[in-house]
Amino acid sequence: MGWAAVARAVLPAASMSLACALGQWQPANGKQVDREGGVKAPKFSYVRAANLGQVLELLERYGEDAQILAGGQSLMPALNMRLSAPRLIIDINGIAALQGIACKDGLVRIGALARHVEVANSAIIRQHLPLITAAMPHVAHVAVRNRGTFGGSIALADPAAELPACALALEARFVLESRGGRREIAAADFFKGLYATARLPNELLTEALIPVRRNWVPVFLELARRQGDFALAGLAFQVLLEDGILADGRLAYFASEPQPTLGLATLAAIKGRRLDPATTAAAISALPGDLAPMGNAVASAKLRLHLQTVLTRRALQQAQAAANRQTRIL
Ligand SMILES: Cc1cc2nc3c(=O)[nH]c(=O)nc-3n(C[C@H](O)[C@H](O)[C@H](O)COP(=O)(O)OP(=O)(O)OC[C@H]3O[C@@H](n4cnc5c(N)ncnc54)[C@H](O)[C@@H]3O)c2cc1C
Repeated sequence: MGWAAVARAVLPAASMSLACALGQWQPANGKQVDREGGVKAPKFSYVRAANLGQVLELLERYGEDAQILAGGQSLMPALNMRLSAPRLIIDINGIAALQGIACKDGLVRIGALARHVEVANSAIIRQHLPLITAAMPHVAHVAVRNRGTFGGSIALADPAAELPACALALEARFVLESRGGRREIAAADFFKGLYATARLPNELLTEALIPVRRNWVPVFLELARRQGDFALAGLAFQVLLEDGILADGRLAYFASEPQPTLGLATLAAIKGRRLDPATTAAAISALPGDLAPMGNAVASAKLRLHLQTVLTRRALQQAQAAANRQTRIL
């Protein structure tokens, strides 16, 4: 069974339990997978796929009964805690076509198997998508970053994950492949809810395509109890400043709603305005129109909204500082 389906259907409680075990969201009511036999994974078949065609054929055949093994940083704990019980695990780590980071024709391509550490250290990402470079130190810990993958983070769609929010702010498109062909979907249409995406059970996420925007200023901010913990609140913001005016921008909030959420009302309140305290006040007033955060044992809905307010204020201060620097350079 696919991870998103696990979260939605069979294991609404269990998936939440995993999230809680990792320090995130509250359990709701629902069925648990039988835990008899301890904390080791339930029995499953394993295939190390030799090529993309084999993965797609297996996904077609097994559908929700198959799980993709990418970095395994979320899948393995879920199996060991018996929160997931797929019949088949398809290991995609041997498929070279899913690897790599490249920039061509104004688009950065990030292969699904690009490890977090590779993304964090990539000169291409630093030059063309500095928002992601700023986010990477917040993604888990070194050991997790050594194995975890870009595609795994996007496919999992954890509400507190950094990369889905960056993808939304950067207007990424995701490539999904199945036996039936290839389709592209915008990040804004991909994230559907708590661990839920538009990916169908027979589809593999193969890469992300992200447009390069020259001269946009990146601002990534997050609040967590400790460095590397999942966020209590966070935002990914990229902004175009012209003569101190906020000419354009994309703002995505995470660790609040079930999926990363665009700050449309907040942005509309400040677009075309000079970055000053009045503009910041307008943004803060508009923010509740964008967010109605979920609460859990770690942080209430009210606290999360307050933290997002704090981050929004800081984000605009950072953007203003960038505008001042631009003016000095001119
Ligand atoms: C202690 C700990 C702390 C963490 N902290 C953070 C954090 O602060 N921020 C954060 O963002 N993440 C965090 N993570 C998660 C980490 O970033 C994982 O790397 C990520 O969730 C999943 O990536 P993965 O490659 O390990 O995927 P896997 O665990 O291999 O797979 C996860 C799910 O995605 C599916 N999947 C994977 N790749 C594909 C694909 N190409 N196509 C379709 N489906 C696919 C799998 O079937 C599975 O259901 C943490 C994990 C741990 C264990």
